[in-house]
Amino acid sequence: MLSDKLLRALNDQVNYEYYSEYVYLAMSSYCESEDLKGFANFYAIQAQEERFHATKFFNYIYQMGGRVTLKGFPEPQNDFKDILDTFIEGLRHEVEVTKRIYSLSDIAGEEKEHATISFLKWFIDEQVEEEDTFNTLIKRLKRIEGNAAALYLLDDELATRTFTPPAPQA
Ligand code: MG
Repeated sequence: MLSDKLLRALNDQVNYEYYSEYVYLAMSSYCESEDLKGFANFYAIQAQEERFHATKFFNYIYQMGGRVTLKGFPEPQNDFKDILDTFIEGLRHEVEVTKRIYSLSDIAGEEKEHATISFLKWFIDEQVEEEDTFNTLIKRLKRIEGNAAALYLLDDELATRTFTPPAPQA
């Protein structure tokens, strides 16, 4: 049985993951409007991942006998200075997600809620990957700044990104 405090925090995270899906859909839309189909695909897949994260939290709350309550969220950013700007905002968003996952993990730790500590471990590892992905793309975009041919090569590369849900944990 989870405490009300922990359930409330987990429920907030369900909502934040759905909001993240929306944040990346808006970035995908921006990239489409700039005719960068590969980048649009990158963000569409990113949005799919966020839906997957939300579902993981959603299912966990019900497994633990809780109740999920969905809330509204603010309008995501729809306009950006350029493609690099989307990744800078994306990284800022992921750093915020990491902070939230850590504070969830802190609550679970204080309450010695070992099942939830174990559940959150996957997300802690996932955030290392998320931040690394954004950091790497920021570095690559800075390196090719002003080089349209290199930008289109990267666009082609990102067009190949697909979503594969991770295998269920043993
Ligand atoms: Mg997420």
